[in-house]
Amino acid sequence: MKFGTKTIHAGQKPDPTTGAIMTPIYQTSTYVQKSPGDHKGYEYSRTGNPTRKALEDNLAALENGKYGLCFGSGLAAVDCIIKLLQPGDEVISTNDLYGGTYRIFTKVFERLGIKFHFTGMNSIEQIESLVNSKTKMIWAETPTNPMLNIINIKELSKISSKNNLIFVVDNTFATPYLQRPLDLGADIVMHSLTKYMGGHSDVVMGAAICKDDKLAEQLYFLQNSCGGVPGPQDSFLILRGIKTLHVRMQRHCENGKAIAKFLEKHPKINNVYWPGLKNHPNHATAKSQMDDFGGMISFDLIGNKLEDAIKIVSNTHFFTLAESLGGVESLIGHPASMTHAAIPKVEREKTGVVDTLIRLSVGIEDVEDLIKDLQNALNKIS
Ligand SMILES: *Cc1c(COP(=O)(O)O)cnc(C)c1O
Repeated sequence: MKFGTKTIHAGQKPDPTTGAIMTPIYQTSTYVQKSPGDHKGYEYSRTGNPTRKALEDNLAALENGKYGLCFGSGLAAVDCIIKLLQPGDEVISTNDLYGGTYRIFTKVFERLGIKFHFTGMNSIEQIESLVNSKTKMIWAETPTNPMLNIINIKELSKISSKNNLIFVVDNTFATPYLQRPLDLGADIVMHSLTKYMGGHSDVVMGAAICKDDKLAEQLYFLQNSCGGVPGPQDSFLILRGIKTLHVRMQRHCENGKAIAKFLEKHPKINNVYWPGLKNHPNHATAKSQMDDFGGMISFDLIGNKLEDAIKIVSNTHFFTLAESLGGVESLIGHPASMTHAAIPKVEREKTGVVDTLIRLSVGIEDVEDLIKDLQNALNKIS
């Protein structure tokens, strides 16, 4: 089955009792047993629910995995994955990390005795120098937020398997439409389904997907023991969202490309960060592991005046000012004052998050309207 067919059909069969083509929302906490232990595969909805199961099987198919597990949010998925570890264990992680992931690592799990090393992941030597007998996991996010750096998944997987580590890739920004980390050697793929997978900015949910039977068994144990599972209504909405993932992503990529090219030529713009541009520092890696380059773009302004950036993000009409990403509607954000406000200026500027850095989540509207919108806002600054 090819990708677009999987988005619509994988994990889902017409309802055997009624013929309903859509997987029903099994809004139930428990399931009747004929005699103790004699049931139809479901006992209690924390452990398993048919609507959630359809979504979990669909996700496993899209990522070319074997097992999918869903959680009440992306961070609940992170929580479950890190609980594979013990106090004393160490994790090597991307330094350019989603803020919430950084927070749970440093503020929750460090307190419980797990140590995290944050590093840039373009130097294999640098990563290898951090591996010791306590290292148990590598955590990578690619493309990164908001600088759109690309990390070479295959290269990392070599270090990981050589040292017997668990290699996790947060695939939220790319989605399996653009990149399938399990095929490139990752052990677990993590998602915030809240973003592109759901695609309609109406649900918060997360997932972990893997191939290995033993790893899956441990994750299922934790999912059921810790209980951070999503409800059937939300599972239904994500399943429905995924049915158009391939057509949405195709348009996100087309619009992303047109807007990156527009920004690149604009006289008031300094750098444009989009992995599809030939001058992007990781363009070659992006080309080797991604099928296209997505709809996330960052850029900064000539002169680097904070008030210019504020003027732009306050003067767009279709690009609305909000956190989050990956929905059908275009969003604009200002990392220095929003998502990255807690990081000291000197620190954030080292990674490229300057005062005028602006991040776009390019939606699937008509691109002519989106370009006009940005042009109008850019006309407001001198
Ligand atoms: C949003 C996001 C998360 C967290 O997911 P939630 O669904 O908000 O809990 C994790 N990683 C990345 C890359 C994200 O964008």
